[in-house]
Amino acid sequence: MSIDRIGLAIIGGGPAGLAPLLAAHRHGRLATILNEGVSIIERSDAIGEGSIGHWCINSDSTGFTFADCLAGPPGSELAALRDHHLTKEFLEIGEGTVPLRRAAQFLALVGRGMNDLIAASPKGLILTGSKAVSTRRTAGGWLTLVRDVETGQERTVDSRNVVLATGAWQPKERLRGEIVAGVNLVEHYGAKVVQSGDVLSFAGFRATIARLSKLGRPPRIAIIGGSTSAASVANVLLNHMPGIAFGPGGVTILHRRELRIFYPNVAAALADGYLEFGPDDICPVSGRVFRLAGFRLDSRELIMRARGIGGRPPESRLHLHRLGIDDAASRALLDSADLVIAALGYRPRALPIFDEAGNPVRLMADTSPKARLVDDHCRVMDESGRPLPDLFAIGLAAGFVPHGKLGGEPSFRGQANGLWLWQNDVGGLIVDAILSPDDPDVPFVPPTALKSASVAAWTGAELNAAQEFEA
Ligand SMILES: Cc1cc2nc3c(=O)[nH]c(=O)nc-3n(C[C@H](O)[C@H](O)[C@H](O)COP(=O)(O)OP(=O)(O)OC[C@H]3O[C@@H](n4cnc5c(N)ncnc54)[C@H](O)[C@@H]3O)c2cc1C
Repeated sequence: MSIDRIGLAIIGGGPAGLAPLLAAHRHGRLATILNEGVSIIERSDAIGEGSIGHWCINSDSTGFTFADCLAGPPGSELAALRDHHLTKEFLEIGEGTVPLRRAAQFLALVGRGMNDLIAASPKGLILTGSKAVSTRRTAGGWLTLVRDVETGQERTVDSRNVVLATGAWQPKERLRGEIVAGVNLVEHYGAKVVQSGDVLSFAGFRATIARLSKLGRPPRIAIIGGSTSAASVANVLLNHMPGIAFGPGGVTILHRRELRIFYPNVAAALADGYLEFGPDDICPVSGRVFRLAGFRLDSRELIMRARGIGGRPPESRLHLHRLGIDDAASRALLDSADLVIAALGYRPRALPIFDEAGNPVRLMADTSPKARLVDDHCRVMDESGRPLPDLFAIGLAAGFVPHGKLGGEPSFRGQANGLWLWQNDVGGLIVDAILSPDDPDVPFVPPTALKSASVAAWTGAELNAAQEFEA
């Protein structure tokens, strides 16, 4: 079965899939997009929460930044949700952290609101319980093949634009190629190597407790990675595992790059005696120190304690070890560990893409374990780095790097994987490109300017700028 061509098909209805629509809502442009026809194709039964609630940890974004996705002009389409008790709960949490499971409930609420708006729009179509199988270039857009998860029945969705928001995963294949301290991790350490997602999922958390309990002594754990995931795993192990006691240095984070601390401004960093930054580490838009690379909330506290920063009480159970200096010492830590946890980030799931002639298109993301899926305009790139027309991607591990007017410290190397950014500037880039397809550089109103005009109008609060998460 086929339907008339619509403006936009979003593949994957998780937090990132909703983000461009929320960015449009914030700028008062949601009705324009909906009038062109929007379809969301989502494998699960509902849009909104995606997989963010699968993790047994607290957020690295504040309660406030989650609630901020409902910002927009007074009386906008989602305005009623601002009075919902969940929204109020998140606003009250303010600068604090929230359990990701609770964040998922809030995002599901936002998803239901968006679902109703799309379903009520003239050409809107929500396909839940439906897996997008592939998408193929047509003369003026993309034809996406969709399969009902239960019945196997197939249909196509014909759209001018496609946004891939299919999330990310930790491929075992990539782990098998990982070399740390001169040795192949999997070949050398075999069954004692797991990935961070295997520990942070609810089932994985329970399995890890059972595994460590059997040792009958304080466990020794090596975590490889320098990002938020690595610190989150350490925090879960040290502070949230009932019945598991760690001795001094029981958990080691083996990291390649420096572990940076986020500060809201230079004065706050200096007041803590934190001097590890220069002009390139300060976001020119927000004035924040290590806005993108710095640890936040629970992870920040833990790393600050382990590093003895800001007068925090020391955390002797956590040992920090820099890789690339003494391979023998690094290997000794791995050799003696009961469990080696690879917290090496995620890879985009994307989708099989075909050109107009029906030939498969190899994507840039397929060319190496670290290659990006998107360019600086969120456009999906083919293997040579050329953007594919009208095909965008957003979300975990898509590879978007903030730049220019989007801010972020110039020294930052990596991906920005935070919802707030997607629901603001990054989603805004896609909206601009879709509504003004000939000009990917069309200027947009910076969110800081919108804040006083929109969010503060309903929160009455003075807002903080972006909170980002780097997985
Ligand atoms: C451990 C961890 C903690 C995090 N904490 C935070 C945090 O505190 N704050 C923050 O801002 N970010 C955080 N993130 C980053 C990010 O916000 C979440 O990972 C978020 O879930 C990513 O959203 P997504 O839409 O890209 O992917 P997902 O949430 O995985 O959603 C993808 C959706 O696409 C659907 N889908 C996939 N393939 C198909 C297909 N072929 N057809 C149809 N549907 C499909 C899936 O069913 C799913 O609903 C965290 C990430 C991790 C891994």
